[in-house]
Amino acid sequence: METILCLTHTEGDGKLPRSCLEAVATATKLQSTLGGAPLELGILGGDVTEAASMLSGVPARVLRVVSGPPFAASRYATDAAAVEALLRASGATLVLAPHTPRFARVIAGVAQRFQGRVDTHVMGFSVLGGSLHVDRYYYRQRIEARLSRAQRPWLVTLESGITAPWTAAPGELRPEHVELAEIPTRTEVKGVSCPAPDAQTIRPEAHLLFVAGAGWTKPQADKRPHADEAEKLILEFLRRTNASLGGSKSLVDLTGGEAVLRFMTHMNQIGQTGSTPRHPKGLSTCCHGEEPHTVGWRFISERRAINKDAGCGWARGKADVLYVADAFEVIARVNALLAEERQEKP
Ligand SMILES: Cc1cc2nc3c(=O)[nH]c(=O)nc-3n(C[C@H](O)[C@H](O)[C@H](O)COP(=O)(O)OP(=O)(O)OC[C@H]3O[C@@H](n4cnc5c(N)ncnc54)[C@H](O)[C@@H]3O)c2cc1C
Repeated sequence: METILCLTHTEGDGKLPRSCLEAVATATKLQSTLGGAPLELGILGGDVTEAASMLSGVPARVLRVVSGPPFAASRYATDAAAVEALLRASGATLVLAPHTPRFARVIAGVAQRFQGRVDTHVMGFSVLGGSLHVDRYYYRQRIEARLSRAQRPWLVTLESGITAPWTAAPGELRPEHVELAEIPTRTEVKGVSCPAPDAQTIRPEAHLLFVAGAGWTKPQADKRPHADEAEKLILEFLRRTNASLGGSKSLVDLTGGEAVLRFMTHMNQIGQTGSTPRHPKGLSTCCHGEEPHTVGWRFISERRAINKDAGCGWARGKADVLYVADAFEVIARVNALLAEERQEKP
């Protein structure tokens, strides 16, 4: 019989992020798939009081926490020691953790301490021929694999967006504290410096993916490019909708000597050689919708595009709706409507 340990950690606000709650939901599903396998939960963080309350009602036999100032911020030595202690206390054969930067950094090291095995980017589980298998993609989501391992403990990190997050239910799960001896560290965390949330254009948890293509920088009806106007329209749209920003390869590859969008980086690129994000909706603008780009839309459920060209790639079964229109005009109008709506409902 397998024993499952599901790991979570707090964010700066003391809460569990969505990806951790998704991991908990996946762990409860796995528990039923395995015929009621024992499930344990672990939380890692500075103050975990609020995080623990978010896990009420989880059908777990125990909730263990490693908390205190040394565990408030991510640091290899303390995080690895905390995960090791949680795993030792549980004696788990299977460890599930969300693929957050914090766990992704330490999971392989912890597996090595137990002579276990690790798999990352896992999308789901199934039992075949009596043995547990994990599903994941390779080669940029083009090869789907199902694999099993005999070695235990087996540590896996889970992709985000594969299931709905756990929502607290009635029930009480009292945290048990796991005490650790002092951990020698060479790194002192003095603080966290990061851009304001609205300065960050890649927002994995956004409801909408807004993709900008190279058309935003191309000469328009007056034979001149309007990159400054494009920047203003796109940034205003992002500010009003909190959408995540993606770009086509042609746009992110632009360098000096031609009109560029200054906030666009290679990190924004969607597609075969870019990323494959998961958002419920996507809106493509000034992008032709060629195959190497649209493969990156595989997990976008509802797709719409705005292009002046009625024969663009989106029209060939790649989008649910194609608006044949000038994106400059459409986005300016949408921004105006969003502004009006905000005034009506302050
Ligand atoms: C091996 C390989 C890997 C690749 N990987 C990727 C990848 O990961 N991601 C990726 O994106 N591409 C990738 N590409 C490139 C891809 O094939 C396309 O060249 C690229 O996606 C085109 O970008 P685009 O549609 O933004 O630009 P363009 O092809 O230049 O299209 C611009 C579009 O803007 C429209 N437009 C212009 N002005 C307006 C306006 N005012 N309103 C509305 N529409 C307007 C035009 O009609 C046109 O359709 C790859 C190619 C190869 C060979």
